Amino acid sequence: MKREPVIYACCGDISGKLRGKGFPAADFDARKKQGVGWTPTNVQITCFDTIAQSPYGAFGDLLLIPDEATLTRLEAADQAADAALIDNFVLGDVVHLDGRPWACCTRSILKDALQRLKDVSGLTLFGAFEHEFTLKNIASSIGLAFTVAGFRRERAFAEALIAALRAANITPDTVIREFGVDQFEITIKPEHGLRIADHGAIVREITQAVAEQFDRRASFTPMPSAGGVGNGVHIHLSFRDQDGKPATYDATGAYGMSAVSGAFIAGILQHLPSIIAFTAPSVISYQRLVPHRWSAAFNNLGVQDREAAVRICPVTKRNGADPHEQFNFEFRAADAAANPHLQLAAIVHAGVSGIEQKLKPPTPTNEDLSLLNGQQLSAFGVEPLTSSLAAALAALERDGLVRSWFPAEFVDIYLAHKRSEIAYLADRSQEQQCTAYAEVY
Ligand code: GLU
Ligand code: MG
Repeated sequence: MKREPVIYACCGDISGKLRGKGFPAADFDARKKQGVGWTPTNVQITCFDTIAQSPYGAFGDLLLIPDEATLTRLEAADQAADAALIDNFVLGDVVHLDGRPWACCTRSILKDALQRLKDVSGLTLFGAFEHEFTLKNIASSIGLAFTVAGFRRERAFAEALIAALRAANITPDTVIREFGVDQFEITIKPEHGLRIADHGAIVREITQAVAEQFDRRASFTPMPSAGGVGNGVHIHLSFRDQDGKPATYDATGAYGMSAVSGAFIAGILQHLPSIIAFTAPSVISYQRLVPHRWSAAFNNLGVQDREAAVRICPVTKRNGADPHEQFNFEFRAADAAANPHLQLAAIVHAGVSGIEQKLKPPTPTNEDLSLLNGQQLSAFGVEPLTSSLAAALAALERDGLVRSWFPAEFVDIYLAHKRSEIAYLADRSQEQQCTAYAEVY
């Protein structure tokens, strides 16, 4: 049957999903200007398709304006002549009818944060999201952690994924059969500013689309099963100055951190108790953020320590390589139940507030913090991360400074959204909660 291509214009919302509306691809030029209509209350659709309390009710109209730079096309790998279109979507900004950014437009929220970084420091952000996910519906995979055999079983999927990313102008870096049951990891090369989060969102969507082509389900849920290995998101960041030169490394700085990097990281760790509500925003996220899960359990800095909230990643001078180009740090208290634009906006605002306060670089911890008591932890200037989404939301609600970084009505809407997600899962066991999230992420 004849098909006519459709482009799906979408926005990343509070649930972290890409939602939007389709139109004939032939109309793209017109739609780039006029957008598609969008409804304010849609922002309260939770990941479980329930609708949280909305201040907008049935009222209001918005426009979703596509950004052509994010147009993502995916064609079936093995069909030549009449290649079937699997995906054809474009991310966009949500604006009022008069063109003002809408308070809950997550791309606009990130643009504001990046502008603040530039205003305060003159720097731009460079980075990439690293994703772990579970590839389900395959034979039992015990004994396959990091193995050639484990990768071989999914080589066709992995190679199609690499091709799909490249076709979407995303440069693949590595693809790994990770440690957990049926767990894989995909990393991509760093990008600038807004594109860091755009690519984060697109990688999740493309990975799931490619998996479906192989009769697999790729799930980015933070905890595939209670007590199992978590799927983390590690957000790698560095800075570029006005001339495009790396500005993250200083050979004379503590552990290689330039003054601005140290202050930025200190700001992240200082505000982590509140911003974690954006970076790890599901009920089960907090099963992952406990000691000995190689995730993050304290608001600490680590050097090559995979249990730190922020980790300074390794650099090498081997074969004349330049540490300035490689030096980056990764934020590990994140998962893919979050919207990547909100995750990054929260991290950037927290970091910039560290730069504004001229905070000193944090001293990396070098021990098993789970063995220390409260007094010993305070001596290191660290505290355990909150143990539940409800506690993280309460910390965010109380934190006037963090709230002030976001558009006025946004945080209350966010809190209502997330609290309705908590209520939806209230009567379920941890395992049932994991099952519920594995179905939707
Ligand atoms: N799966 C771990 C997490 O939940 C990360 C393991 C690693 O260091 O790659 O973050
Ligand atoms: Mg990993």
